[in-house]
Amino acid sequence: MIPANFEYHAPKTLEEALRLLERHGDEAKVLAGGHSLLPLMKLRLAAPRFVIDIGRLRGLSYIREEEGAIAIGAMTTHADVEASELLRLKCPLLAETAAEIGDVQVRNRGTLGGSLAHADPAADYPAAILALDAEIVAGNSTGARTIPAAEFFVDLMTTQLRPGEILTQVRVAPLGPRTGAAYAKLHQPASGFAIVGVAARVAVERSGKIADVAIGITGVGSKAYRATAVEGALRGKKADAKLLTAAAQQAARGVEVLSDIHASRDYRREMAAVFTRRALERAIARAQGRKA
Ligand SMILES: Cc1cc2nc3c(=O)[nH]c(=O)nc-3n(C[C@H](O)[C@H](O)[C@H](O)COP(=O)(O)OP(=O)(O)OC[C@H]3O[C@@H](n4cnc5c(N)ncnc54)[C@H](O)[C@@H]3O)c2cc1C
Repeated sequence: MIPANFEYHAPKTLEEALRLLERHGDEAKVLAGGHSLLPLMKLRLAAPRFVIDIGRLRGLSYIREEEGAIAIGAMTTHADVEASELLRLKCPLLAETAAEIGDVQVRNRGTLGGSLAHADPAADYPAAILALDAEIVAGNSTGARTIPAAEFFVDLMTTQLRPGEILTQVRVAPLGPRTGAAYAKLHQPASGFAIVGVAARVAVERSGKIADVAIGITGVGSKAYRATAVEGALRGKKADAKLLTAAAQQAARGVEVLSDIHASRDYRREMAAVFTRRALERAIARAQGRKA
């Protein structure tokens, strides 16, 4: 349980961190909250020669409104996301999702950027980020680019981030009118990670017709995904219990469902349907101003 030797750097500015990352290439790893990287290093599943601690950078931890969107710095902890008044008011799905992560210690140290960059298949944020159609900003020593959430997750613990890039910001839009969102999760009892986690965002017309719907699912496949089959079955239809139950059955359609010591393939598939229905019911009730 002792990591391999490494050289520790604690840059003071983002520019310095990016220069170090560029210089050391594949041999370097960024350290944020350390709640995923350090366990991997202790198990020697990761053995970077250079650890670049971005925990001391000023200015990467914030939640603020920018040009109509809500911008969240990569080093913002899960606890800060959970407690943010701005998010609770304008994008409560993220705060609700953060509250479901691990335990108090994990939420106090773990960061939004670290969770997304790590891309654990059982992490919670990816589901919400997909359902919110968020944008992810990544910078390197020459500039920055914006990656749509739908393109960010590539495979198991693999994202669109390139060597030398640091995820700096996540941007989400405030929820629109008559729109509700919810996160429903089946926890793995020991770690708290998601066996299944479903984030739903639904816009409902006055008539009860579903005008728009986005569903992100984590825990089920090797990466989080949009449940497009469920979305297609709901869009333009009147939201009733029978429709929701039938549509939710397609939650794992087209996905190679994981099977491990925590949950078999069949159980996960079944739970994906159950938790998709629950997330949809809560999101729709909220869109209609009912108690959920
Ligand atoms: C006991 C326990 C329970 C947990 N339960 C849950 C849970 O229920 N749900 C959940 O979602 N997660 C859970 N986690 C994981 C936790 O949320 C982590 O904090 C998170 O996955 C990683 O964030 P971090 O800031 O700690 O990143 P780190 O561990 O510091 O880094 C993780 C990886 O991302 C890279 N990285 C970090 N930040 C950046 C950046 N800004 N740009 C580019 N690369 C970066 C690192 O190089 C590393 O490869 C749990 C962890 C523990 C230890």
